[in-house]
Amino acid sequence: MSAPVSMKYGRVRNYYGGAFVESKSGDWLDVTSPLDGAALSQVPMSTAAELDAAVESAKSAFESWSKSTIKERVQVFFRYRSLLEKYSDDLTALVVEENGKTFDEAKAEVEKSIELTEFACSMPQLVSGEILEVSKGVECRVEHFPLGVVASIVPFNFPLMVPNWTMPNALVLGNTMIMKPSELVPLSTQRMAELLKDAGLPDGVFNIINGGKDVVENICDHSGIEAVSFVGSTKVAKLVYQRSTNSLKRCVSLGGAKNHLFVLPDANPAMTATNVAASMTGCAGQRCMAASAMLAVGNVDQIIDQICDEARKIVPGKNLGAVISKDAKERIERYITEAERDGAKILVDGRGTVVDGKESGTYVGPTVIDHVTPEMSVAREEIFGPVISIIRTNTLDEAIKIENENPYGNAAAVFTQSGGLARQVVERASAGMVGVNIGVPVPREPFSFGGWNDSRFGTNDITGKSSIEFWTKLKKTTTKWNPESRTNWMS
Ligand code: NAD
Repeated sequence: MSAPVSMKYGRVRNYYGGAFVESKSGDWLDVTSPLDGAALSQVPMSTAAELDAAVESAKSAFESWSKSTIKERVQVFFRYRSLLEKYSDDLTALVVEENGKTFDEAKAEVEKSIELTEFACSMPQLVSGEILEVSKGVECRVEHFPLGVVASIVPFNFPLMVPNWTMPNALVLGNTMIMKPSELVPLSTQRMAELLKDAGLPDGVFNIINGGKDVVENICDHSGIEAVSFVGSTKVAKLVYQRSTNSLKRCVSLGGAKNHLFVLPDANPAMTATNVAASMTGCAGQRCMAASAMLAVGNVDQIIDQICDEARKIVPGKNLGAVISKDAKERIERYITEAERDGAKILVDGRGTVVDGKESGTYVGPTVIDHVTPEMSVAREEIFGPVISIIRTNTLDEAIKIENENPYGNAAAVFTQSGGLARQVVERASAGMVGVNIGVPVPREPFSFGGWNDSRFGTNDITGKSSIEFWTKLKKTTTKWNPESRTNWMS
């Protein structure tokens, strides 16, 4: 199948053995820009044989890469970091184009990728092992060893940042990797491969196989892959966790979210309003850390009015990007309409948004829904759009109960000026990441990122120090050189 002439970029290729390889797949999907519907590229649904070839390339690269010292490996990533900085504007433009977010949001994604790489560069300071004389003349030593070929399966909402959550740490720790980008945004990872090559990464250490469900299932089943990290929706996160652990792989699988913000009557109104509006609309609400439900405890009418004022200032096509697809726009608008039908009140309505000159773009304006009840779908489910559902409660206990009963557990945040009340929410919220007067409580490096409940399956977080445990296995060596050492039941 030849590419349409109007396509801006060439067709997306797989990458293994240090070279871009055109897929032999007969099945290709169009890649279009959510900004204006422009045809960007086509992405292959790669075959099982192509995955095998990439795994073979990663396996043979593992031999020498895993034997190099971590000090040597980080040198590549110091250079990769400089290249991310050097090409920051190009990378930003590509993320904007394929994902639809704003320039500032995409720029932040590049900056965060740099920060993630800097963390990986600090790994030699973090992974020195342990050593102790455990009985007279007998020494125990613990060292981190890489796992082998690992896989990283990523979602559409951060085409550059989420791949950089996993790739630098896993590689610096001596693994080789197969990356499976989202078929909706496969272009940024192509650029990543080029930069890694320019940074001097040996061929076969980083590989890309494009595709969708079939490739993911083949990764989970593949006997040559030791560990799978997944980031995406809860439905798929569960399937990936079950399937890859069933084939005896290590797996950490991050799912969707329904993040609750507790707003208490003593909250600072201006700070709360700007934070809530920014959290619900940033990246068009397509962040797993976005505010999605607001628990309004007691009388916070004045703060709600200010949130609406802030939301109205956010202009689609200017400081609000597009949502990823026509399907996503329809799904988000359907949620709003259902809430209205069920008796909720739409205070700010983002349905039917069209941006002048970008009529084929997929935009949804900021939407504030009040008087939502806990059983409505907008209160329970992930909407993944610039929408906040306000649930009113009389007490903090009632609000905490609602948050606790939601099956997700990525993030929660509380807005208050009372340290005691804030601490109650921090302790009692059933979420892995909690914010106090912060709408998007993303832990930055070196702290690790990961939710609880249906927002994460597996035991480790995906970034930070916790990821070291995921990407390595421990070797415990006990040594005795001194023949005079006493022999006892332990030696
Ligand atoms: P998605 O689950 O649809 O896709 C994620 C990956 O899984 C993609 O690479 C896709 O090709 C693959 N995939 C899709 N359907 C599959 C199937 N049936 N079987 C096997 N593989 C399949 O997610 P998305 O729409 O790309 O991303 C948005 C979701 O990701 C949201 O739910 C969001 O909350 C979540 N997310 C979570 C985090 C987190 O840290 N918890 C971070 C970013 C995004």
